Amino acid sequence: MSSPKRPFLICAGLAALVVGLSGSQLPAAAALPARAPATAPGSGVRDVVFAVHGGAGSLPRGSITPEQEKAYRDGLTKALRTGYGLLKDGKPALDAVEKAVNVLEDDPLFNAGKGAVFNTDAEQELDASIMNGRDQRSGAVAGVHHTKNPISLARLVMEKSPHVFLAGKGADEFALRNGVPYTTQDYFWTQRRWDQLMAAKGQAKGNPSEVGGTVGAIALDGSRDMAAATSTGGLTNKEVGRVGDSPVIGAGTYANNRTLAISCTGTGEVFIRGVAAHDVSALMEYAHLPVTKAAATVVNQKITALGATGGVIALDGRGTLATPHSTKGIINGYVTKDGGIVTRLYDDETPAE
Ligand code: ASP
Repeated sequence: MSSPKRPFLICAGLAALVVGLSGSQLPAAAALPARAPATAPGSGVRDVVFAVHGGAGSLPRGSITPEQEKAYRDGLTKALRTGYGLLKDGKPALDAVEKAVNVLEDDPLFNAGKGAVFNTDAEQELDASIMNGRDQRSGAVAGVHHTKNPISLARLVMEKSPHVFLAGKGADEFALRNGVPYTTQDYFWTQRRWDQLMAAKGQAKGNPSEVGGTVGAIALDGSRDMAAATSTGGLTNKEVGRVGDSPVIGAGTYANNRTLAISCTGTGEVFIRGVAAHDVSALMEYAHLPVTKAAATVVNQKITALGATGGVIALDGRGTLATPHSTKGIINGYVTKDGGIVTRLYDDETPAE
């Protein structure tokens, strides 16, 4: 079900927090004319250089305490500052998305790294992927048990192996061989996820929790290169060995300098069947749709028609950010080229587009 369409209001909310960074600008982005953020649904947000998400789902106002709201916004802001800070220092988009996702993986609030959901055997099996828009180099891991930051392992697969995708035991062993510290499963444990598993045990397998909590990041750097990254624990009470869309290049993650950088969240099985991330790119490349229209078509028509809900964050090479979702909301945040940070938690903060 779509959330009601409404103008994007930075100031209406107590909610959409705008936090200034140091005031300096990205060199390439600084050449762009300054423009006010978009105010109408469907037109996206302009002049964005970096964005993250913390999962699609529903977070109505009043459903969390002010302390929890602060914790979510602090977590998103820390990730946004990390990514933007690297871009501002002239580092590549790939570094920005990896390090920002590391921040969210380390934050127990999100379903990635520490705080990941449990599978049906009460274990965490972690999935992640990363992609470089300049040359489509990609790395992915699935079913990882012992790596604190799966997105960095995905990058290692990309850079230190001839492969794109490693899964299960092989991925964990590759991590060890490359000096990634071994992490015991109890590191990932949180009471909240345990309670969700217990609650889910009485229901059908693989039920998504209210807010998925999968994390992702997309970036546009000073050389106009783009990158995307996604990391997740998947679905609560999922079958052992189940792999969702997040580590599947073209389904949950995609980056291509000719089109966009995109990270998806939602029912992974359907995002795989719909080849969602690449489909948005293809609509841009071959049908010449703008990112807002391409992303909304896939999320609100194609994925919905296949029977599932979810959302994406998608950034084109001109800095237009689209965040369509067929869930009631999507937790996300972005940084504009002048360093302004916006975080959006509640269902009414992010237009459905
Ligand atoms: N897409 C993720 C998966 O299916 C879950 C999510 O984004 O909530 O594993």
